[in-house]
Amino acid sequence: MRISNMLLSTLREVPAEAETTSHQLMLRAGLIRKLAAGIYSFLPLGHRVLNKVENIIREEMDAQGAQEVLMSALLPAEAYQESGRWEVFGPDMFRLKDRNDRDFCLGPTHEEIFTDTVKACVKSYRQLPQTLYQIQAKYRDERRPRFGVMRSREFIMKDAYSFDMTKEGLDESYQKMYRAYCNTFDRMNLDYIVVDADSGAMGGSGSQEFMVKSDTGEDTIAYCSACGYAANVEKAECVPEKLSKEEAKPMAKIHTPNVRTIEELVSFLKTDSKHFAKTILYQAGENVVAVMVRGDREVNEVKLLNHLKINEQDLELASAETVQQVTGAAVGFAGPIGLSVPVIADKEILEMTNFVVGANETDYHFENVNVTDFQPEAVIDVRSITDGDVCPKCGKPIATTQGVEVGHIFKLGTKYTDALGCTYLDENGKPQSMIMGCYGIGVSRTIAAVIEQFSDENGIKWPVSVAPYQVLVIPVSMREESQVTLAEKIYHDLRAKGVEVLLDDRTERVGVKFKDADLIGIPVRITVGKKADENVVEYKLRQAEEVIEYSAEEAVEKACGYIAENIHAQK
Ligand code: ATP
Ligand code: MG
Repeated sequence: MRISNMLLSTLREVPAEAETTSHQLMLRAGLIRKLAAGIYSFLPLGHRVLNKVENIIREEMDAQGAQEVLMSALLPAEAYQESGRWEVFGPDMFRLKDRNDRDFCLGPTHEEIFTDTVKACVKSYRQLPQTLYQIQAKYRDERRPRFGVMRSREFIMKDAYSFDMTKEGLDESYQKMYRAYCNTFDRMNLDYIVVDADSGAMGGSGSQEFMVKSDTGEDTIAYCSACGYAANVEKAECVPEKLSKEEAKPMAKIHTPNVRTIEELVSFLKTDSKHFAKTILYQAGENVVAVMVRGDREVNEVKLLNHLKINEQDLELASAETVQQVTGAAVGFAGPIGLSVPVIADKEILEMTNFVVGANETDYHFENVNVTDFQPEAVIDVRSITDGDVCPKCGKPIATTQGVEVGHIFKLGTKYTDALGCTYLDENGKPQSMIMGCYGIGVSRTIAAVIEQFSDENGIKWPVSVAPYQVLVIPVSMREESQVTLAEKIYHDLRAKGVEVLLDDRTERVGVKFKDADLIGIPVRITVGKKADENVVEYKLRQAEEVIEYSAEEAVEKACGYIAENIHAQK
């Protein structure tokens, strides 16, 4: 491709709305263009990357025996009503009506539709197992679309669904997808870890997420370098810290004027936050519940949701008015004693003695409180693991890091097949529910994750396997005939060898061409300058600093060698 013919719109300035490296670079390199909040168009360069990523996924899915299909994105409501997810998705679901007033949605994920399809097509045990997948746009009206295609409202997903007869069959289908995902992300050179994930709201018996390590990741991962345990913080089990127990002292009310936060309590009472228990009120649907965790801990809302068995959109912090109404005090003085709503206490509270809690009275706390002073409705693990905690598997220290969830694999069981009556006839002619797994890759998010890991202050450094083009040929001056002729020759030679080449034949200054080259990040750059007459060119890799002089033929050969070595084609 000649850049002079290409729709390339690079930006020098960092767009104000873009907070993360990948978002900035995707806009600056002209890969995507924003249409509305969380809605993006892919421009020619971006679209080529998207195709590369999709094709890697496709090859790896096919290699594991999965079959590609394509479902509509516009979906009738019925299957979602049958599974209950018409309600569960709440405001995240884009809904619409047709001219006859029938309900439709734009598919947020397709479990129901695949289940319905397999129900119609599969009758007998002889037709199982099956794994189907598609690569398609998904729609979620995210509360906070941000970071460009990392969290958008329309995004490309590869979603796959397996249907088996037995648990062992499901395990096998799941392992195949696990392998496909490892191969896929390996081929993109991504540094990722596979973590245990929460499977609460979706039901099911186990799930893992593929996390790309990145500071901008919205997920927190807890991992143990000693035993290899890794889990999403949403899921990671917490081991209560043992504190030395004291003899119970008599409880007393203390005057704590204007002392509302843990920090304020720590400085007012001059003790450690481990001696306080905070009581946080949540609105859980129609009900209010109080959650107690140690002063230095955070409530884990996913664990709370799973315990309460409610949907995400039905849980929020109670409003100031509700807190006032329920506790009879201003925000900051809630406590478990004499509270009229159910108290859910974290397990670690049982380790505490003579601690401080809010007194449900403005400007007062109780000190020397002990677990016998109140009756929690439940004592569960409801806090988030953090640095300094111990590994739930081996007891060694846990560390945390940020990650981007690029993939998620899930043992679903029979939740959807039961709900939609997706059965097969077994060898005895008896109907049985199929056992399902579901497997997603955020295709567009993966592109952003690659950029997070492969970029510098000047731009993107594409791994060869997903680069929009493999080689960029730059004639320094379009006015020098010998340069133009040699650049054209290299361009044609490379194309003849099947290399994907860009020729920067614009009449721009060379400084502009180099800036764009770094920004769009093509892996190999061949510059044809003053030594064109001697058949000598400059060869530079985007991943390296060195500029090496080669003859034109050597440069072509080196480029082909580098691409072959780094493309990570399917094994
Ligand atoms: P998240 O926790 O990030 O909201 P999720 O767990 O809801 O994601 P899944 O339902 O597991 O997402 O979807 C499969 C994959 O689709 C995710 O692993 C992620 O890579 C991608 N994905 C999900 N939501 C978005 C989004 N809003 N924008 C881009 N990619 C997304
Ligand atoms: Mg997920």
